[in-house]
Amino acid sequence: MKEVLILMEAGCELQPQLSFESPDYVRTSLAAAMTLKLLPGRFYRGAKLYCINLLLTYSEGCAANCAYCGLSRSRGGQWVENSFIRVDWPTYPLTEIIDRMIKYKRSIRRVCVSMITRPKAVQDTITIVRRIRDKLDTPISALITPTVMNRRDLEALKESGCDHIGVAIDAATPDLFDKYRGTGVKGPHKWDKYWETVKQAVEVYGDAVGVHLIVGLGETEKDMIEIIQYAQDIGASTHLFSFYPEENSQMSNYQPPPIEQYRRIQIARYLINEKIKTIHDMKFTPEGRLEAVNISLEEFERIVESGIPFMTSGCPGVNGEVACNRPYANEKPGEVIRNYPFKPGKTDIKLIRKQLKLKVQSW
Ligand code: SF4
Repeated sequence: MKEVLILMEAGCELQPQLSFESPDYVRTSLAAAMTLKLLPGRFYRGAKLYCINLLLTYSEGCAANCAYCGLSRSRGGQWVENSFIRVDWPTYPLTEIIDRMIKYKRSIRRVCVSMITRPKAVQDTITIVRRIRDKLDTPISALITPTVMNRRDLEALKESGCDHIGVAIDAATPDLFDKYRGTGVKGPHKWDKYWETVKQAVEVYGDAVGVHLIVGLGETEKDMIEIIQYAQDIGASTHLFSFYPEENSQMSNYQPPPIEQYRRIQIARYLINEKIKTIHDMKFTPEGRLEAVNISLEEFERIVESGIPFMTSGCPGVNGEVACNRPYANEKPGEVIRNYPFKPGKTDIKLIRKQLKLKVQSW
């Protein structure tokens, strides 16, 4: 019988606090709240979450206005009640979260602290990382906001116990970035500042830097693969998201990208990040669709059959495997899975093969 994600309000020991702020309070993803048994429920198809994602919280909300984001200032409503990456993020005292992470330590492989755009967020992220590090040796990532940071902040974060940096560039081209995160939405973010920070993060953290990219903001497949290659060339890996329209956001009427497009980007990212191929081994149509890869059929088959390129890309745990697997952050449970939070099964691989629509050639 098909399992469904069951969420019940009853039995929750802690009710979300609506007006308390970081660093003493944080929001946590619905999946993390379930993993820490703050909310009851189970994941579709038995998925498990390995990374506790925490989000800073302020009553004024985020000062930025990214068009696709559930937390943008123009979305309206109560900021702390707005969804983010499709799901709710209830608020809890940090002390309670830390106590629960200690209690359920065996199932947690990483913690991620996500900033929002507030100058105060830098120091608060450092404080939160330090408080967690004082009690737990689990690896900690920070998803940072370059607009309010400098190189010294990156160093201070590392000194506080953070070992991995994520930078959400999100849009694949300077024009799309400016349209959806910068001047186009009266937002503060700048493409050049974001990439300058990625380069500084690589200097401070080495290869423990990941760039987040959202597929489906209007870029071509070539645009997206070019920026994945660029990130790789400067020393950062890439973590993929599939655009999902947040209700009442500025892009609520936009559609997610076709699954075929997403699958091709996933395999291209894998080939580039694993240093198996580069963009020079890929051919594109005049419209910018990935048409063919220069790879032997045997190797390609082996890679597809492994299912790994189609699993969520994100920060690793101590075992080297992706810990931040974000179950169902890009689609509702029961819809076509974009990022598999577990190894795809035989039936999944069969479906993926149909979705890929990609030629394999040797040239
Ligand atoms: S800065 Fe981050 S949290 Fe704020 S609106 Fe942009 S994407 Fe959303």
